[in-house]
Parts: sequence; C-alpha cells; structure tokens
Amino acid sequence: MEKTTLDIQKIRKDFPILSRTVNGQPLVYLDNAATSQTPKQVIDVIVDYYSGYNANIHRGVHTLSQEATDKYEGARLKIQQHFNAKLSHEIIFTAGTTHGINLVANGFSSLLKKGDEIIVSALEHHSNIVPWQMLCERTGAILKVIPMNLEGALEMSEYHHLLSDKTKLVFCNHVSNALGTVNPIKEIISAAHKVGAAVLIDGAQAAPHIKADVQALDVDFYVVSAHKMCGPTGVGMLYGKEEWLQKLPPYQGGGEMIAEVTFAKTTYADLPHKFEAGTPNICGGIAFGAALDYMNQLGFEAIAAYENELLEYATEQLLTIDDLKIYGTAPKKTSVISFNIKGIHPYDIGSILDKLGIAVRTGHHCAQPIMDFYGIPGTVRASLSFYNTKEEIDILVAGVKRAISMLS
Ligand SMILES: *Cc1c(COP(=O)(O)O)cnc(C)c1O
Repeated sequence: MEKTTLDIQKIRKDFPILSRTVNGQPLVYLDNAATSQTPKQVIDVIVDYYSGYNANIHRGVHTLSQEATDKYEGARLKIQQHFNAKLSHEIIFTAGTTHGINLVANGFSSLLKKGDEIIVSALEHHSNIVPWQMLCERTGAILKVIPMNLEGALEMSEYHHLLSDKTKLVFCNHVSNALGTVNPIKEIISAAHKVGAAVLIDGAQAAPHIKADVQALDVDFYVVSAHKMCGPTGVGMLYGKEEWLQKLPPYQGGGEMIAEVTFAKTTYADLPHKFEAGTPNICGGIAFGAALDYMNQLGFEAIAAYENELLEYATEQLLTIDDLKIYGTAPKKTSVISFNIKGIHPYDIGSILDKLGIAVRTGHHCAQPIMDFYGIPGTVRASLSFYNTKEEIDILVAGVKRAISMLS
C-alpha cells in the first residue's frame, strides 16, 4: 500500500473535538459527509474576529470596519484562487450550498418558459431537487432525470438522449453524498453546452476531496458549503460566470445590494454585491478562507491519496462481515461507504455504534430517490476524512460485528 505524506497524528492534534469521548468511549467521527470538524487554526480565526475586529463591513470609515472589510474581501480572493475563478466578483458569498442553488433557481424563473426542459441527475441531494421542482411549478418547465445504475453511477448514454434544444439547464452533483460516486461532470458540462444549456454543479461533497477548477471545467455555476471542508456552518460560495450573474436578477432585496434607492426606482449594485443583500456572515466568510488555507497547506493531492487508502482499507474490512452489502460501487468514488446488514434496520446499527462512541449517519441522507431505486429505507453511511485512521476503521468494523450479534 502506498505511503501517505500526511502526518495524521500531528493533524489530529489540530482538531480539539477529536480528543473528546462519547458515551465513555473515544470519539470515532465518521460522519464527515454531513459536516467536517474544525481545526484550531480556523477556530482561532473565529475567536480573533470576535475579540479583535468585529464590525460591519463595506460601510464604515472607522478602523474596525476597514479591518473586517479587508479580511472578508481577502477571503473572497482566497476562494477565487482556490477554485480558479477568472474574476473575484464571480464569487458570491452564500449561507451554503442550499442557499446558492436557490439563488440560481430563483433567478432562472424569469429566464424560462413553459415547455423548456431542466435535467437533473438521479443521484441528487434533496437540496438539488426541490428548488428545481419549485422552478418548474413557477415556469411550466419540465424536469427530466438522468437515471442511475446498480453501481450507483449515472447512465451517461441516457443523458445524451435527454439533451435537446429544449434543454435550458442541467444540474448535477460533482460527488454523491449518499454513495460517494464521482460524476463525469466535464462530459456533462460540455454536452450541455453543445445544446446551449447552462450547468450548475453542486460541489458540496466534492470540495473536501477534490480541488475543482471552474475555468478548466467551463462550468456556469458551482456551489459549496464551508462546513463540509473544515469551515464553519452558515457560509458557502456560489461561483457564477460573470455573463450569467449579470443576466440573473437579484435574489433578495435589502442593504448592500443597491446602487441607489428612491421610492420611484432602485438600481442594483454591481457584482458581487447584487447577490449579497444584508449583513453577511462576516466571521464565517473569513473563517472559510482560513479553512481553505488549512486544507491547501496539507495539499489536496495528499488528502485524496490518503483518503483513497482509507476507503480501500475500509471497503476490504467491512466486506469481511457476512451479510454486509455496500451500496455505491462505482469505479470513481470519494471516501464514503453506504452499507446495510441483511435483516437489520440501519437505524439500529447506528444507535449501537453511537453507544460505542462511533458517529455514523443512518437514513436516506437527503437522497430519498436513491434509496427508492435500491428499494431500501436507508443505509448506514461511514464517511471518512483525512484525519481518520485505520485504527478507527478497525473500531467501526468491530462495532458493526458487535451490533449484529446484539441484534440478531
Ligand atoms: C451537504 C450537501 C448539500 C447541502 O448543503 P448545506 O450546507 O446543507 O446547504 C447539498 N448537496 C450535497 C451533495 C451535499 O452533500
């Protein structure tokens, strides 16, 4: 097995929460696809903000306001650089992935007409299904679905059949949160562009593992949440190509997003402020920048190589358990393992694992259509991060065996 370049024991010391106990046992945190843990380098930035320069941004002449504005705009530049956007005003701060998707879906209300078609993938998170259904209700557009196969991969030939000059928008996640499948988004984007459709990629689950280059992908919109990549909750980013962001109307009205207001007419501020109404999550935005610094300093290649090593090990070890079935076996996966034990409800496994200090997710993972496809109520999902270890996987495997012996 390939040797990792990361010093995992040293990295674990950066995460204060990893040394706590749960139900008297050392915490084994394997719910990283729901939210990642926060290193002290990011926690320190949050504490520094509130103890050193908390102020509202973009409007104050005073020093604190200028300091906060500089740091917040500095974070925007870090995000721009990380995702390789051409222009800093193509980066819109949001409250997270869900917010970013709703912003775009809402904007397209005025650009779509009855009979236009929107394509989504069968592997979507609810936050990438429901806003489009609402958009279809508002506009009369029709939702089409790229089907999936038993491995948990998209049927790409079906996708190519669905595309036509009626297609206006395509939405797909980069990585499925329920199964870990890495989708062929480059192919999805270029095929959509051939029929003149715009593409939004939900990068929430990819961003902790894969550094996306929005220019190389030629994607129109890309959305992420900071909390899945070592940052705080309640903040995220929407990348949009300048031409699209100019075409879309503002999402919310309020302060920050205006150029001039009279009761007769209001004109909107330039990008990115047009989409950033109200006082934003200033501290969160700055901490998001710090989270990117932290991950980049470890290096995304090293992170991916180590997580892949963990994924292979965990898959191998879990499959030694009789009656265990893994859902999602596509050739390209991130470190997510969804599984069930024959005859046992996933919730019961999850509850026993919690008693043993092991945090996993159970249920439909906000992706009910995938569970319906497999005809199951849900799965147990272990999602691994670069701060997890093989010892923790051994604890998980022993825990699952123990749960089986208690429940059968
Ligand atoms: C977590 C997740 C979301 C939702 O992110 P929020 O931070 O809850 O808005 C959307 N899509 C995918 C693939 C996710 O993993």
